[in-house]
Amino acid sequence: MEALRRLPAVDQVLTEPLLAALVRDLGPAAVTPLVRAALTLRRQALSDGAEPAADRAGEQLLVAAIALGLDAPPLRTVINATGVIVHTNLGRAPLAPEAVAAVTRTAGAYADLELDLTTGQRGSRQSHVRSAIADLTGAESGLAVNNAAGALVLTLAALARDREVIVSRGQMIEIGDGFRLPEIMAQAGARLIEVGATNRTRLDDYARAIGPDTALLLRAHPSNFRVVGFVEEVGTRELAALGRERGVIVVDDIGSGLLQPDPDLPGEPAAAAAIAAGADVILFSGDKLLGGPQAGLIAGRADLIERIGRHPLARALRIDRLSLAALQATLRLHRDPERLRSAIPVRRLIAMPLASVQARAEALAAAVGGEAVATAARIGGGALPTVDLPSYACALPDADGALHRVLRTGEPAILGRLEDGLLLLDCRTLLDDAEVAAIADRVNAAR
Ligand SMILES: *Cc1c(COP(=O)(O)O)cnc(C)c1O
Repeated sequence: MEALRRLPAVDQVLTEPLLAALVRDLGPAAVTPLVRAALTLRRQALSDGAEPAADRAGEQLLVAAIALGLDAPPLRTVINATGVIVHTNLGRAPLAPEAVAAVTRTAGAYADLELDLTTGQRGSRQSHVRSAIADLTGAESGLAVNNAAGALVLTLAALARDREVIVSRGQMIEIGDGFRLPEIMAQAGARLIEVGATNRTRLDDYARAIGPDTALLLRAHPSNFRVVGFVEEVGTRELAALGRERGVIVVDDIGSGLLQPDPDLPGEPAAAAAIAAGADVILFSGDKLLGGPQAGLIAGRADLIERIGRHPLARALRIDRLSLAALQATLRLHRDPERLRSAIPVRRLIAMPLASVQARAEALAAAVGGEAVATAARIGGGALPTVDLPSYACALPDADGALHRVLRTGEPAILGRLEDGLLLLDCRTLLDDAEVAAIADRVNAAR
């Protein structure tokens, strides 16, 4: 076939200027396989009847473009104009500068991760966060693992293996993609005993289900959904009192990692409140309202934290040192409740006065010829799913989503949301004025 004969050789494609940066970064030897694979794909496409390029130079450019696309894309920075503050697909919480600095300091050097420098003896990586977790939650002790789902599996495996765990039917949650409480329970080797109904569970339902094989009562925060109307759930305080009376451990998975109650977040369970209410062990995420790295934090009674930390699964779920450095720095910022709202990015965005959001949206609208419109932002990450945060967006007509596609696939990537033929660029989730300026530049270049 004529078109196939026009395909360039591997060496020729490597000279294509489009690939120069890739060749410089990876070296010619690493780019050659990508070009071979690109040639195979192009040959297949032509055999399948794809339109051939006008000449060999055209084919060469096409093959180079395919090869470029085959290089695994690096994690790209995204400007979050979705209005969802803790956006799981966008990596949840951007770190505070202090946490970024801690990661940077630790990343390229050795560190005293598991070594006590004063004694020269082996130490525990938990020693870097244990007392901060305990102090900030009011618990006796604390522990950090890789993520909160892992913290739940580990806690159940350590405290309830081959025994019964009682859970309300109103709290049969799915955490993330297909990770449901019954499966978590099975993985941990615990037997799930469901009590109550989807909308109502009373203390007596738990009390009647407790038997000689009951290891613990589990409360799980129904993060990303709400049952409304004729609803009743048992609070941590009542459940903890029942647990104490019957000699059964009470575990509270509070989800979002708010440490202290916050007037900006009414109704969101706080770690310190759950401990004060008498929970033996609580669990929460590091990268939701805590505003830190991906991590699962466990706080509670010292004897139980010790048992959890000694379980073999703790090794498999251990937190890595970069996350540990970021977590330690983030927890430090939480020690000052005043500073917290300005120092932790997700908390700053939640607390940002509406007038500031509006001013940004108006500045952006003026720069790109859009319109500032009132919107509803979300906290995300399962926190307060039914609560709208008042916000403003810059709205631009984008009936077929073409503008959004250009912004999303460019550099830096910009993610907004399409609603009724309009592209809404929500300004509550923009981290600073530089992001406003970057969006204005990109929109103006795109039109
Ligand atoms: C988010 C959440 C989890 C899972 O936390 P990850 O850090 O994503 O593993 C577990 N339980 C509750 C109640 C949650 O909201």
